[in-house]
Amino acid sequence: MRTDEIVGTTVLGRPIEAIAFRPPSYAKARPPAVIFGALHGDEPASALQAQRLIEELLDRPPGRETWIIPAVNLDGLMAGTKNNARDVDLNRNFASANWTGEHKGGYFPGASAESEPESQALAALIDRIGAERLVALHATFKVMNWDGRGRELAEEMGRLAGYPASGDIGYPTPGSFGSKYGVDRGLEVVTVEVPYLEVDERAWTETRAALRWSVDLPT
Ligand SMILES: [Zn+2]
Repeated sequence: MRTDEIVGTTVLGRPIEAIAFRPPSYAKARPPAVIFGALHGDEPASALQAQRLIEELLDRPPGRETWIIPAVNLDGLMAGTKNNARDVDLNRNFASANWTGEHKGGYFPGASAESEPESQALAALIDRIGAERLVALHATFKVMNWDGRGRELAEEMGRLAGYPASGDIGYPTPGSFGSKYGVDRGLEVVTVEVPYLEVDERAWTETRAALRWSVDLPT
């Protein structure tokens, strides 16, 4: 069963939409998964991959409760900017233990942790449904990064996509999604760096099995 829900509103008042898939009642109970794209607005390939996954799951539903937000940072996506409409890098705005107001140019973390309606919407959804498997879609490095308990999932997704899996992206990320939900809370967090979408859909072909795996049997 599929339902649409508005889970929040952007700085400029755009509705943030989530598509929820619920498996049949006889499926083995598992904690819900959340998959989201375009936390960075200049990564439209991530939103397109989320849309492709939605189309796929309409035909063949997932094996666990799955919520997909194609674009968290809709204002940035519409403007072609990485940051949101207040020039906040949403992946520095989460209320992790390492959140800090100090930052380099272009990485403004917001006036305070989770000051932004887009990060608030994502955080509220995760808490409300009790999601434990979290897949963040970014672009375009073709790698699977994990935080928290995400290693096993990241390695299998990497194997399916032909991408390397890594637990360390090589620089500190205070206030990042992975810091809050992986490092602090110990949840299964995988960040998928998807490729540019090619006209022939090659990018989706590469990542399809990995994304499908993240919401399917037997994990
Ligand atoms: Zn990104």
